[in-house]
Amino acid sequence: MYLVLFGPPGAGKGTQAKRLEAAYHLVQLSTGDMLRAEVASGSTLGIKVKDIMKAGELVPDALIVDMISGRIDAADAKAGFILDGFPRTIPQARALDAMLEGKGLKLNRVIELRADDEAMVERITGRFSCVSCGANYHEKFNPTKVAGVCDACGGARFDRRADDTAETVRARLQAYHDQTAPLISYFEKKGNLLSIDGMAAIDDVTRQLREVLD
Ligand code: ADP
Ligand code: ADP
Ligand code: ZN
Repeated sequence: MYLVLFGPPGAGKGTQAKRLEAAYHLVQLSTGDMLRAEVASGSTLGIKVKDIMKAGELVPDALIVDMISGRIDAADAKAGFILDGFPRTIPQARALDAMLEGKGLKLNRVIELRADDEAMVERITGRFSCVSCGANYHEKFNPTKVAGVCDACGGARFDRRADDTAETVRARLQAYHDQTAPLISYFEKKGNLLSIDGMAAIDDVTRQLREVLD
């Protein structure tokens, strides 16, 4: 199965992609995670994108398309993947179409997680993750079971993304409306778009996703 999950920052793409990954034996391909790894490693690409990401703007299409096309070819992606955070612009969507066509693959579903801007500010500013295993949490909506201890690995060190500030979220939401939301009609025309209510509780969103995918 080949899926695209898109929606505004904080809609729950990463959270749901991880759950679908386990349920359907897919790999999550998150361009945001890939870029953060490049920044952390200090690579040439990482140096180029660091300030763009911190400002909440989109990284140039050519850099993203290069990065993801190599990743889609990797052995672990052959059995199916969930694209999380890509495509984010019409040129990226066209590049994805061309890439898949060249490989004889077809997207099964494109899923939009609908969410309100105001709620996304609270989601993003309360987000944190485990330094050891990357598990994702939210101060209010998805806290660790024991305060200060990661449910998944027992780790005690947590981190926040450099771009998860109230100010940067505004810029990221703006970028979403200006550059990514036009993908809704792009995929609607192609006929494989599904829209899901991302404002529901985490488990309810998962249930809705599983209903449409089963
Ligand atoms: P995205 O990948 O779309 O930016 P995340 O999956 O990282 O979003 O979710 C953003 C934050 O909101 C995280 O801290 C996550 O735990 C929390 N979250 C995700 N989905 C929901 C939901 N349906 N209701 C409440 N909080 C949520
Ligand atoms: P979000 O929580 O906003 O969904 P992501 O982790 O997907 O965040 O992306 C974080 C940042 O990485 C974006 O604000 C942008 O700067 C960059 N980025 C990620 N994916 C893309 C993409 N497909 N095109 C352009 N920039 C991207
Ligand atoms: Zn952990």
